[in-house]
Amino acid sequence: MKINTLTNLAYGITLALTFFSGLAFILSIRMAHEERQAVEVHLALADLGAQLELDAELRTDEARLYVMRGDLKHLAAFETINEEEHRLEEQARHVKDLAGTEAELALLAGITTLIDGLEELEVAAITAYQSGNPQAAREILFGDEHYTMHVRLVDQIKAFTNEVTARTALALQQAQIRSELYNVIARVLLGVTALVFLAVLYFVLRRRVALPLTHMSSVVRRLAKQDFEVEVPADTRRDEIGDLTNAIRIFRENGLERERLDAERKRDLKMKGLILEMMRRMQACQKTEEIAEVVACFGPQVFADLGGAFFILNETKTVLWRASTWQMPEDFPERFDPEACWSLRRGRAHHSLPDKEDVQCQHFPDPRSAGLCIPLMAHGDALGLLVFSSLSNDATPVDDYTAYLGMIAENVGLALANLQLRDRLTRMAVCDPLTGLLNRRSLDESLATFSRENDGVPLTCMMIDIDYFKRFNDEFGHDAGDAVMITFAGILAEIVGERGLCYRFGGEEFSVLFSDISREEALEIAEHIRTRTATTALSHSGRILGTITVSIGLADTRNGGSVSTVRTRSDVALMHAKTNGRNRTVQDMDLTAKQVAG
Ligand code: GH3
Ligand code: MG
Ligand code: MG
Repeated sequence: MKINTLTNLAYGITLALTFFSGLAFILSIRMAHEERQAVEVHLALADLGAQLELDAELRTDEARLYVMRGDLKHLAAFETINEEEHRLEEQARHVKDLAGTEAELALLAGITTLIDGLEELEVAAITAYQSGNPQAAREILFGDEHYTMHVRLVDQIKAFTNEVTARTALALQQAQIRSELYNVIARVLLGVTALVFLAVLYFVLRRRVALPLTHMSSVVRRLAKQDFEVEVPADTRRDEIGDLTNAIRIFRENGLERERLDAERKRDLKMKGLILEMMRRMQACQKTEEIAEVVACFGPQVFADLGGAFFILNETKTVLWRASTWQMPEDFPERFDPEACWSLRRGRAHHSLPDKEDVQCQHFPDPRSAGLCIPLMAHGDALGLLVFSSLSNDATPVDDYTAYLGMIAENVGLALANLQLRDRLTRMAVCDPLTGLLNRRSLDESLATFSRENDGVPLTCMMIDIDYFKRFNDEFGHDAGDAVMITFAGILAEIVGERGLCYRFGGEEFSVLFSDISREEALEIAEHIRTRTATTALSHSGRILGTITVSIGLADTRNGGSVSTVRTRSDVALMHAKTNGRNRTVQDMDLTAKQVAG
């Protein structure tokens, strides 16, 4: 049963009990009134009987005195008393008004008859006296008839008084019993009412006041300790406790909101701190690979619930290759066409949403997966792409982080652009613009480095010169000469590969440095370059150019040969190759001291 119903029921019972208790009190008072009435009736009737008797006796006395003494004042008194007696008789005839019973009425009728009889005798006696017959008057007044009638009157009045006393005593007793009963009932009901009222009061105070207050106090204590997880009970009562509960609930909600904002601020600070650290690392990056590593290292720390991938656009902007990934599916593509990404097409961040909410980039392996692509732009140029995908099916994290992701993308793009610019400048400083090979400055630096480190690893230097190139230039033109130079540089780089470093020394002369290769291998490579060049048919702008040949000189640092002289010695060997007919390889060690000096 609900508290409200219970309380209302208790209130109802209290009211009903109060009502019945009041009723019982009223009845009790009424019984007391009846009791009083019974006493009054008893007194009135008893008084009437006594008065009738007394007046009858007084009247008799006055009649006797008059006939005895002949004093008229006794006659006057007789008359007065007789009138009084008549009035009492009249009253006795209306005794019903005083709640007299039939028996009492009958007795009273007998009494009045006797009084009237006595009156008749006494009037007859007075008349006889006034007629001059005092003897007859005395006989009447003191005679047997008068005496007998008077005795009967006394008996009747006694019987009447007894009757009245008996009846009123019974009525009094009954009224007393009922009054007492109602009094007891009223008191019991009042007691029960008080008990119920106290029980209701206790219940109300305990359930509606004490318990909620106890609960509230424990809630307040927990709230004071910043424990906002505590549940504040819902209280719709419109009283002080309801107001208090609502105030506490609002306080808790404010606390929760403050905690949420605090956590958000802390998270924001942490993320910004991590992003700042990430940027600092990126500024110190020397290679794009290092940028990729930094992004892959910090990405999952900043966005724990996101996977991601970092793609770089190649120089010709035809392919995006994956530089790094974190927390991404295994089958995420390693490279794809930039056209497959809507963000690169539109030049702005694109959110691929599942369920056809927005068009999806084609590079996502799963057509249902969602993700955010942010192009890496610098100076209006696309350089790469960052792809982020929520680890859960919920796309909310990506939305939440959009501002941070944009900030990261901007900085990664700038770092990438700076690095690429620096690479380009470095390349321009160390590379030959026509062939793309390292330039002479690089050769000098490499030789200086080898000389400085001098760690005992043998160094081999190869000098190559295109034979009769001036003639070739003269015959086919400078452009054709440039094209031939590029073709040769390609052959050279391909054959040398990872085994050494190729340089354009100047004009139509090239150098190659090998670290730790045998003389046999060096000779074999030189011969491979020479024969391949000689057998490569050249053409330019649809014109057949024929073939060219090269002369090669080799020298190394074995057997006491120093790094500082290795290039000169290989140059001398080249000179010998030229003078000995060109299209050949000469090794420094094959030359005699005289030949070297000459
Ligand atoms: P050899 O080395 O066999 O003794 O004869 P050569 O004709 O190759 O040597 P020479 O030193 O007389 O001429 C070198 C020529 O290379 C002169 C120059 O026109 C040409 N040359 C140098 N640099 C370039 C270049 O960048 N482009 C073109 N097309 N020709 C160049
Ligand atoms: Mg030359
Ligand atoms: Mg030459």
